[in-house]
Amino acid sequence: MPSLNPYRDDVVGVDLEVPLSTGERTVYINFDNAASTPALKAVKEAGDKLIDWYASIHRGAGFKSQVASEWYEMARDITLDFVNGNPETHCVIFTSNTTDYINRLARKFPRDEEKSIIISNVEHHANDLPWRDRGAVVRVDASNNGEISPAELDRILGEEGDRARLVSLTGASNVVGTIQPIHDFARVAHKHGIPIAIDAAQMAPHLPINMQGDDAESSIDFLFISGHKMYAPFGGGALIGPKDFFGESEPSLRGGGAVLVVNPDEVDWAEAPERDEAGSPNVLGAITLAAAMRELQKIGFDELEKSEIELAKRFITGLKKIDGSVIYGLENDEDMHRRLGVVAFNLGDIPHGLVAAVLAHEAGIGVRNGCFCAHPFMLQLMNVPEEVALDFRERILNGDRSGIPGTVRVSFGLYNTEQEVDKLLDTLKMISEGRQALTYTEEKSTGRFIPDNGEENYASFVESLMN
Ligand code: PMP
Repeated sequence: MPSLNPYRDDVVGVDLEVPLSTGERTVYINFDNAASTPALKAVKEAGDKLIDWYASIHRGAGFKSQVASEWYEMARDITLDFVNGNPETHCVIFTSNTTDYINRLARKFPRDEEKSIIISNVEHHANDLPWRDRGAVVRVDASNNGEISPAELDRILGEEGDRARLVSLTGASNVVGTIQPIHDFARVAHKHGIPIAIDAAQMAPHLPINMQGDDAESSIDFLFISGHKMYAPFGGGALIGPKDFFGESEPSLRGGGAVLVVNPDEVDWAEAPERDEAGSPNVLGAITLAAAMRELQKIGFDELEKSEIELAKRFITGLKKIDGSVIYGLENDEDMHRRLGVVAFNLGDIPHGLVAAVLAHEAGIGVRNGCFCAHPFMLQLMNVPEEVALDFRERILNGDRSGIPGTVRVSFGLYNTEQEVDKLLDTLKMISEGRQALTYTEEKSTGRFIPDNGEENYASFVESLMN
C-alpha cells in the first residue's frame, strides 16, 4: 500500500506489528513523539557509517581518528547552522540531553540567595529544578493555555532589578504545545540587561530556530536541544551559547579533554567548547544529531509545521465531538499556528491512566499520561487546590500513586497520518462510551491500569529480540 504520508518512509520502525491484550496483532501507532521520536532513516544510516569509521577522537594520530575527529567537529558547524548561531560569538557544546545542559549551565551561576533566576510556571522540571539551589527562583505566571506573557516578564524584571541573573524559558510547552514568543522575551530580557536561555527541547523538531534573531536585542544567548526528541535517539544533544562565557567560566565537569596543561598543583583549562567537554565525547550522538538536523532542513520547516497543524486540527476537531472530552490549551482553529501537535486532554472523569491503557492494550496506540514532568503547571491546569496537592503528595510518599490527577497527551511526529488520527478518535469514542473489550485494575504502587487478563511479558519479548 502506498505510504499515506510522504515522510513516513523517511522514519525507521513505524510499521512494526505488536501483540494486543485482546489476542490480536496490529501495526503500532506512536503518538508519544513529545517524549521521544523514532529515528530518521538518514540518522540510522549516518550512525551505521560512523560505526565503521569510529575511532578515538581528538587525541588519536591515525587516519580513522582524524576522520572521526573531523566528523565530530563538522557536526558542531551543522548544529550552529541549524540554530542560526553566530560562528564568531557562539559555540556548540556536545554532551547528552537538555537536563544535563541546564544543570551544567546552572552550576556556572554560583549559589547566591541574594540573586534570582527567572523561569515560568509552564517549565519542564529540567528548566526548574536545576535553578532552585542557585538562588531565588521567580516564576512568570502563564495562562491555562500555557502562554507566557512578555509584558509580565517585563514587569517581573522591573521588580527584580539587580537581583535577576538570567531568564530561562521554554520555547514551547511540552504539556499543551503552546509556542512561545521567544524573541519578544529576548527583547525584554536584554532591555533589562539580562541574558536569556531558551529550552528548545520541544520546539527544535518542529520550528526553525534563529539564535541571532533580527538584531542583538532579539537574539538568544543560550539554547538547549536533545537529539532523542528530534529523530536522533543516540544520546546526543547540544548546548549553544556565548564562546566568551564558556571560555571564562569554571568547567561544568573536570577531567581529560577539558585542559591545556596540568601539573600536580595547577590546571590551565582549554578554550570553549572543549573546556566543557571533559571525558570522551559521545561521537555517535553528535554526528547523528547533525544528520537529523540536515534531514529536517531538507524537508523544510514549512512542510513540518503544515503537516503537524493539519493533524492537530483533525484531532482536536474530532475530539471535541466526543462526549465529555476536555481539551487543555489552545483549541480554536485560528490558534492552530500558535501551538504544536502536542495535545493534552481528558475524557470526562475516566482516569487518564485507563484511557492510555485501553489505547495501548486494545488498539496498539502509544500515548503518555500523567503530569509530563511539569507538576507546577499541571496543578494549575487541573485546578488542584493546595491542600489536595499536599494530600496526593502524602499518598505518593506512602507508595500509593492511584487516582493522581493528570491528563492524556497525544503528540504527533512528521510521519504520522490522518488514518492514524482517525483510528485514535474511534478508539477514544469507544472508551468514552465504555465499550472497551477488557476490564482493568489500577496498580496502586504505579498508578498503571493493567488488563485483568494479564499483560504481555515484556522481558521475554525483549529476550526474543536479543536472541
Ligand atoms: N524541556 C522540555 C520542554 C522537554 O519537553 C523535555 C523532555 N520532555 C526536557 C526539557 C528534558 O529533556 P531531556 O529528557 O532530553 O533531558
